Amino acid sequence: MPAFLKRSIARLPSPTIKSQWLIVVLTLYFGFVLNLSYWRFIAVHLEIDGGWMALLAVWLVVVNGVLFGWSFCLAVIKPIAKWLIIPFLLISSVTNYLMWNLGVFINPDMIRNVFQTNVHEATGFITPSGCLWFFVSGIMPAVLLARTRIQYQPFTRELLSRLLYIGVGLILVAGFAAISYKEYRAFAREHSEKRQLVNTLNYVSSITRYILESWEARRPFVWLDRNPTRLAPHPGGHPTVLIFILGETARAANFSLQGYERNTNPRLSKEDIVYFKNMTSCGTDTGVSLPCIFSNRDRQDFNVNDAKVTQNLLDLLATSGHAILWQENDGHCNDVCNRVPTEDMVTTGNPKYCHDWYCYDAVFLDGLEDKLRAIRQDTLIVLHTMGSHESYYQRYPEEFKKFTPTCDTADIMYCPREAVVNTYDNTILYTDYIVSSAINIAKKFPNFEIGVMYVSDHGESLGEHNVYFHALPYTIAPAEQTHVPFLLWMSETMKRDGRIDYDCLRGKTDQAFSHDNIFHSLLGLLKVQSSLYQPEKDIFRTCRMKGAE
Ligand SMILES: [Zn+2]
Repeated sequence: MPAFLKRSIARLPSPTIKSQWLIVVLTLYFGFVLNLSYWRFIAVHLEIDGGWMALLAVWLVVVNGVLFGWSFCLAVIKPIAKWLIIPFLLISSVTNYLMWNLGVFINPDMIRNVFQTNVHEATGFITPSGCLWFFVSGIMPAVLLARTRIQYQPFTRELLSRLLYIGVGLILVAGFAAISYKEYRAFAREHSEKRQLVNTLNYVSSITRYILESWEARRPFVWLDRNPTRLAPHPGGHPTVLIFILGETARAANFSLQGYERNTNPRLSKEDIVYFKNMTSCGTDTGVSLPCIFSNRDRQDFNVNDAKVTQNLLDLLATSGHAILWQENDGHCNDVCNRVPTEDMVTTGNPKYCHDWYCYDAVFLDGLEDKLRAIRQDTLIVLHTMGSHESYYQRYPEEFKKFTPTCDTADIMYCPREAVVNTYDNTILYTDYIVSSAINIAKKFPNFEIGVMYVSDHGESLGEHNVYFHALPYTIAPAEQTHVPFLLWMSETMKRDGRIDYDCLRGKTDQAFSHDNIFHSLLGLLKVQSSLYQPEKDIFRTCRMKGAE
């Protein structure tokens, strides 16, 4: 540091402050001044149209203050306080500027951009106003804090006063949670991106995630079986084709095929399908269930991070000579489809079915027949549907609004439960249409060994015991979130050439199966020999007639 700067800093006043007051000052500064964008977002999006929403506004202020207060109760400790807080102060000043002036949201993608940005691009952000902002809201407070003498109380008194802070905060948060948690949850669900504006939390979590993901990505890919083989097809045989429809958030309880009193499966119930009534999911959210379905590991020892870098069912089938096509209408495939051809239905922008950022699942049906007609080799087509994903009312077109009144908002907690269930049932009715239509398209190829399989990734709570949505920890998740629909249709050629005794399969419809069975059942059905195949988990094995390969 230049000598004149050192002398100038030395001449600055060095105030004294008691530790508990410093905690209050830091809480106010970080919680409000350095979080201007967060509060701007709240001001714009929170419609205070009554007492409850006004209470929610107060609750947001209280929670924010309490959380920062707790953080500083832990950070304002004699030897480390300044070393710990000053870097956060400086970084938060910069992120505050970026969010306020450039409308940036701080998330792992943004952090990735920062790390991958070259010097030229980075210097573009250094503007006079940016420098002034940083000097006033970052450098000056940091120098002031560095010059401040913090007066600590004796250890026991200090500890007691901090515990008092934490205790009072706990009472405040719990009190407000009891009153306005419902409003908060609805608001938070609709505006989940607001978390990316909570300064400090946003960049700490994003940098942590970026580092973890970069580390994960460097792990070498694990090949479990490099030589899976397709058993020789029948002489003069036709391609084996499976259309595997991955459901989203469909629960078995609302399928009339399962026994639901409403007719939510008017079309599928007329098809020659096998519906398995006792299927459980691997997880309670897509992030776990989806990779787990395609993994050779069982739910008990399944690990999402391992799955990302491990050969899965799609890789195995591709290696054995199957053509794979993953069609995506649910955002992403959670890294399952990273190494096989994929098609994102939203980017196709089919005007018949697609809106700004989502498409009705019927988008899959357009062109499916042409795709099947072009098939010359054994093929697996995966349709990753949007199904019954939250915002149920946006999942089906008007003509499927059969159960009314519906809840036509994302804030389903404001709707009567009956309307929520009606809306959800309409999504199931639409799924019934999608799956049965896929079956009817498949029927046009009687010479193919062709089948359609449908399974949902996890279920959904619709207000039972006041629980909504999904993603509860598996051990405490209610059956509504883990009991999923699972069904199968096969062409006569598939039954005959695969030597599948369909009646035998029908005898298994009450048997307990889980996502763990799918990996092995598909290897069996698609006649792929692999060291990973566990015959006892193949649903079809005992229903294969003599002479089958
Ligand atoms: Zn899901």
